[in-house]
Amino acid sequence: MTVEELPVEGFERVVVDRAPGGALRSVIAVHDTTLGPALGGVRMRPYDNEEAAVAECLALARAMTLKAAATGLELGGGWSVIPGDVSAKTPELLLAHGRAIASLAGRFIPVNDVGTDQDDLRKIGEVAAPVCAQGDPSPWTALGVAAGILACARHLGHTELTGLRVGVQGAGHVGSALVHLLAEAGAEVLVSDVVAERAETVAESVGAEVVDPGALLTRELDVLAPCALGGVVTPASVGELRCRVIAGGANNVLASTRLAEDLLARGIVYAPDFCVNAGGAIFLQEQLLGHDHEAIRRRVLTVGEVITDLLTHATTDGIPTTQAAHDLANARLAKAAAAD
Ligand code: NAD
Repeated sequence: MTVEELPVEGFERVVVDRAPGGALRSVIAVHDTTLGPALGGVRMRPYDNEEAAVAECLALARAMTLKAAATGLELGGGWSVIPGDVSAKTPELLLAHGRAIASLAGRFIPVNDVGTDQDDLRKIGEVAAPVCAQGDPSPWTALGVAAGILACARHLGHTELTGLRVGVQGAGHVGSALVHLLAEAGAEVLVSDVVAERAETVAESVGAEVVDPGALLTRELDVLAPCALGGVVTPASVGELRCRVIAGGANNVLASTRLAEDLLARGIVYAPDFCVNAGGAIFLQEQLLGHDHEAIRRRVLTVGEVITDLLTHATTDGIPTTQAAHDLANARLAKAAAAD
């Protein structure tokens, strides 16, 4: 194993693992461990070049620090990337990545992400500890999103979700679990997926309406819950939206942070994605701490309190909720750093 340090401003550690011959085998970024060890995904996908792989790894690690800090986790932010098609994944490659992770002596705790699954994490766990490989976080992400949606509804003067019309974009792991929670809470649920049968299956089980994926964003909704891919709010779509709230599981819902100001100007309440979708990360932290399901549930439901605080702060100061979330995260990091 040839692990090299890559000095990157603003990062505690960035290590690069090279195969014999010098090709990049993986990169691991530990952005900030002020609040605790850095939790982060292991992503495997092809990149155009080494720089692109490193750049995505750094961006994801930074975003994880922000999520952990804004939502009160005792964790830092990191990420790792194995460049290449998943067809090139072998036990030897995963073990090499595990040894590179082990060189960080527990400062990076990996979890599966795009291109990796829990079996891969267990393989990595043969040579590195700890790793997160004990259960799907998606239902917990959905539980946190449901709590965040209720917080947004209360901010607008509703007491419960009963009768509110919620459109869920994406009926995958998070979206389908969310549809069930919303239906149980009495919401009128609309669901769409580019794979129509996914939307149909979940809609049938709870009596929801299936909507064409191209039509959901322009439907009149109380809440739009993006649970598919990012880039839902774009300069083109922002003027077309007919919802009062946006709160969902997807990452990077805004194509650019500037769009948070456009949503504010249009009076659309936006629950920052990296806060409202933190239930899965909370689950992983609580599991690492050995807490039981009831304790995990209580902790995940605090996502609602975080969203309420952000909405209050943003309204009082007349700023976008994304700005309020950055302020909260930076204040927490500064306080913890000063206490060290
Ligand atoms: P998933 O792949 O299981 O589900 C995504 C679904 O969205 C798929 O069924 C796909 O067909 C559908 N889809 C894609 N484009 C669509 C479109 N334009 N309109 C409608 N449907 C579309 O993924 P997931 O694990 O449910 O995650 C969903 C989102 O939440 C992702 O952005 C992910 O990064 C984010 N997220 C997930 C978790 C988690 O715990 N799984 C945690 C935090 C964030």
